[in-house]
Amino acid sequence: MKTSTQIKDGYIRFKFEPSKEDPVHPVEHYKLIGRKMKIKIPDGVDAKKIHPDHLALITILTIHPFTRGEMIFPKPVSKRFFEATQVVSRYKCSPVDEELEAWNASDDSSPGLAFSGGADSTAALAVMPATTVPIFMDRPDKKGSLYDKSAAIESCRQLKLLGFNMQVIECDVEHIRDPVGFPTDVANAIPAVFLASVLNLNSISFGTILESSYGTGHRLFRDYPNLSHWRLWGTLFTGAGIPMALPVAGVSEVGTRLIIEKAPLGYVAQSCIRGKWQVPCWDCWKCFRKGLLGVALKLDMQSVPNMESLFSIKEAVKYLIEIPIKHENIIAYAVQRLPKGDLFIDTLGQRVLDKSMELGWLENWFDGSLELVPEVMREHIAEKLEFYLGRMDEAGVAKLNSWNMDKFLTSKKCIKAQEKLAALISKQ
Ligand SMILES: [Zn+2]
Repeated sequence: MKTSTQIKDGYIRFKFEPSKEDPVHPVEHYKLIGRKMKIKIPDGVDAKKIHPDHLALITILTIHPFTRGEMIFPKPVSKRFFEATQVVSRYKCSPVDEELEAWNASDDSSPGLAFSGGADSTAALAVMPATTVPIFMDRPDKKGSLYDKSAAIESCRQLKLLGFNMQVIECDVEHIRDPVGFPTDVANAIPAVFLASVLNLNSISFGTILESSYGTGHRLFRDYPNLSHWRLWGTLFTGAGIPMALPVAGVSEVGTRLIIEKAPLGYVAQSCIRGKWQVPCWDCWKCFRKGLLGVALKLDMQSVPNMESLFSIKEAVKYLIEIPIKHENIIAYAVQRLPKGDLFIDTLGQRVLDKSMELGWLENWFDGSLELVPEVMREHIAEKLEFYLGRMDEAGVAKLNSWNMDKFLTSKKCIKAQEKLAALISKQ
């Protein structure tokens, strides 16, 4: 893959030229269709001065799944970044400039955060130092999409009003593939990487939560710090002088909800990406989960529709009849706390509740996740998470480490309950 950049009409444009070896259709569900990607350059920024290592990292974030054999960066990179790229086994990177100094933040640097407007990245911001710079990727509207960015843009405006150095940066990376979407799951950091030297960022954080990092949203626990995902991206970001950080990797969706309820800036969060500012659509899976969890935690109950309406959300029906249910642990946690006697809740309860599912520990913070945060931020983040959630105790950590829904999900009881639930909600 040969890559190059051009600065024109207020944008930096990345161009990609695949070779014969490059897999443009690497997996069944998406393929490379674009050969260009652009980022809008904010006023006053000289894009010519962006460090070559940062341009190279953006290139990898964009084109990683579609490259094999050789990756030729737009400009020669430093030796440090080149060495970091050795973590990639599928292709070799070049060129290198042995003389080029690697980039490091100077004194008075700030942490950066890839901010989406949702509950998870807002919770991350709430526990990060006050100097954190939230950076939002403003994605061009796509035809026929239900995504409505107006609520997220309003969240950004609110953060600016609160005094944050909020950055909203247009970038069309999602259009490189078909169907439209991020080519890598950390590609939302592209604007932050682009501005890292301008904003003097010492790290880039993500709102990744326990369900994704340690696997509680899936069938099995995974030891995230030793997985290839962290090894790959952690190494590359560190090589570029902007270590990756996951401040809420030890916090479940229950925990991020509790944080945004308690934190002064929590009101800016909106998880629904289809509704308007502070008006969720109540017609998507995220709204269903948020509604169910809200009632369970006795939070903003007036605004949540009744159970019959919640259980007739088409997207929710689709997810609820799957095994496992997406983020089943959160659904189970909520059902355990909802009053019995409602047909929908009781039927869902038979499907998700099992002796192995005592889930009170999801309210606390797993402090083992501190290793996913650079040392300079650890003390601050630990203090905040201790304040908002408290540390998970030994029994909770043991339950996390042995998280395994397999036996339950394949049991006759679960399959029978799934059929009963499907019969009830499919006819809604
Ligand atoms: Zn919604």
